[in-house]
Amino acid sequence: MHSTATPVTPATPATPETSATPAPPAAPETSGSPATSTHCPYCALQCGMDLVTGPQGVEVVERTGFPVNKGALCGKGRTAPAVLSSRVRLTEPLVRSRATGELTPATWEEALDRVADGLTRTRAEYGADACGVFGGGGLTNEKAYALGKFARVALGTSQIDYNGRFCMSSAAAAGQRAFGLDRGLPFPLEDIPRTGCVILVGSNLAETMPPALRYLTELRENGGTLIVVDPRRTRTAEQADLHLAPRPGTDLALALGLLHLVVAEGRTDEAFIEERTSGWEEARAAAMAHWPEHVERITGVAVPRLRDAVRLFCGADAAMVLTARGPEQQSKGTDTVGAWINLCLATGRAGRPFSGYGCLTGQGNGQGGREHGQKADQLPGYRKLTDPAARAHVAGVWGVDPDSLPGPGRSAYELLDALGGDIKSLLLMGSNPVVSAPRAAHVEERLRSLDFLAVADVVLSETACLADVVLPVTQWAEETGTVTNLEGRVLLRQRAVTAPAGVRGDLDVLHGLAERLGHGKGFPTDPEEVFEELRRASAGGPADYSGISYERLREDDGKGVFWPCPEGAGGAVAEGGRAQGGRAEGTPRLFLERFATEDGRARFVPVVHRDAAEEPDAEYPVLLTTGRVLAQYQSGAQTRRVDELNAAAPGPFVELHPRLAARLGVEEDDPVAVVSRRGRAVAPARVTSAIRADTVFMPFHWPGEGRANTLTHPALDPVSRMPEFKVCAVRVERV
Ligand code: SF4
Repeated sequence: MHSTATPVTPATPATPETSATPAPPAAPETSGSPATSTHCPYCALQCGMDLVTGPQGVEVVERTGFPVNKGALCGKGRTAPAVLSSRVRLTEPLVRSRATGELTPATWEEALDRVADGLTRTRAEYGADACGVFGGGGLTNEKAYALGKFARVALGTSQIDYNGRFCMSSAAAAGQRAFGLDRGLPFPLEDIPRTGCVILVGSNLAETMPPALRYLTELRENGGTLIVVDPRRTRTAEQADLHLAPRPGTDLALALGLLHLVVAEGRTDEAFIEERTSGWEEARAAAMAHWPEHVERITGVAVPRLRDAVRLFCGADAAMVLTARGPEQQSKGTDTVGAWINLCLATGRAGRPFSGYGCLTGQGNGQGGREHGQKADQLPGYRKLTDPAARAHVAGVWGVDPDSLPGPGRSAYELLDALGGDIKSLLLMGSNPVVSAPRAAHVEERLRSLDFLAVADVVLSETACLADVVLPVTQWAEETGTVTNLEGRVLLRQRAVTAPAGVRGDLDVLHGLAERLGHGKGFPTDPEEVFEELRRASAGGPADYSGISYERLREDDGKGVFWPCPEGAGGAVAEGGRAQGGRAEGTPRLFLERFATEDGRARFVPVVHRDAAEEPDAEYPVLLTTGRVLAQYQSGAQTRRVDELNAAAPGPFVELHPRLAARLGVEEDDPVAVVSRRGRAVAPARVTSAIRADTVFMPFHWPGEGRANTLTHPALDPVSRMPEFKVCAVRVERV
């Protein structure tokens, strides 16, 4: 076992200051065992790691037995303990002084009373729907479940959604539409090296989840091929056998062009289409309207390269398409993913071993977070809020009248846009929309216009700085709870250290608030008790966790269980359920027998290309696309507080092609302004031929002058309500 010791070092504050300066907490104490197996606090890969306490505090130790990452970690996971004792870690509640207007320390009783009072006043004056709740894709399943129940039962509001809407909601919607079920990957990652060809669309795996890159490396070592679709020649694209660099916002046309060629070259799998799908004729007709030459004009990808992609994809016995935020974060994200699914279905690459479509979910609990009730239109178990049977089942578990449950609310951006309008008060957990939301300056202004804002977070994020009450909560290694990784593998994160005094868990916060709102029962603080209730609420739903328990998750070296996993002896292992011996085994591979639609057939959906919400023009002639870098994570609220990560990625930048740079008279490191119809961001230039000449790229991890989301467009996908983060029109100016 190789120790990758990470001293718990204080980090430099990177957020705006308030009058409150939380004291540095003491080094965490261990909760018992010399090594505690747990998982990384960051991305959806949920790498396994062991935590021990060494001379310098908490240390990360490789956990080679966990199959997903086999001990490998990226720098973010390796340095994660630094956030446990960061100087900017919140260790006491803060309330905004009515006298000075500044955040000042308060007791928990004062802080919770103030939150309950703020929500109660709003509800009394404007009605329950004037109270909003905003969650996060990093919350554990238990927290996401409790937050949804809190909103609908304790507050009685329909206005709840979460930042996962900004993550993979288009893929989720497309998966539901085509397969009748959304589980990011319908197969384990270990299947990737065993397929013949992977088309990776809009994912920079090498930077966002580096330990997963080994699956693509093994694929190629086994003789398989990798096609990467990305407007930038990323570190991932450099590994590819074929790199297609379409203009941002044209992935839909690209997929249609490939499907057109599949049909034209007689490469469809007619038997599969006949036996296992429906709707082919309409989808085929839509694709045939997209001639390769036409697609070349839209995407900028030459016809011979399109033919190369079809040859590689169809030449293999098995193949996969994996998408990430590139094609998904568009105002046509659902149709774009649908087009890639159509390509899989037409070639028989779905519902078969080592073939299929999958989404690489981004956030740590992006998968579980969308299953258990913090999404505007859903109840636990991935049930629909509009389904009377689902409402009756969940209401029964919650002990309330089904008719008392509110209907669906607004999606994340629509909810944020309504702040200060219909929504007067907001409770926000585990999210930092001041940095991560589209059209961020507008969202920041909406947050400032609220009558009341409460934020529960680990650190004083940019959003927490705007709050009337800030509640300091436990994180990752300080608490036990389940998460569901991008494979649909339910995992147990175990508490390894004692949280600093003055910090409480999110479940304690919800319990305390519910009690003050007159719901003393129904909001337990013990995560296992919450999970037991979640199991019952999910039973019989699409994401059925009823056969999973904490005890089961601790077995088998904590390798986890794939949902669906219904309780009881029914169901073969392949379709979910229990093995002969009675142990819950779950469902690593979906759709091998049938798809989850009513008739068991996958559905083709006819889709056509359409422009982005904002195309370049004379005033804004360049395209902006945004993304992540290796050493930072999402809004950076945690990773910007880690010295080693800050040293590796200290701030935003604008990546632009040498031709564009020459036209502007810009050289490396010169400050440049990127201006859209929504605002202006300034950052140093990074001149590289790895990006298209008509496009600039900015990472979105930073607030302030270089905030990329000041520029992004909030146009929404009509189905998933995903904003168009990945493409908008800008002009670039030398500063
Ligand atoms: S790849 Fe993701 S889960 Fe793994 S260590 Fe890095 S951030 Fe953590």
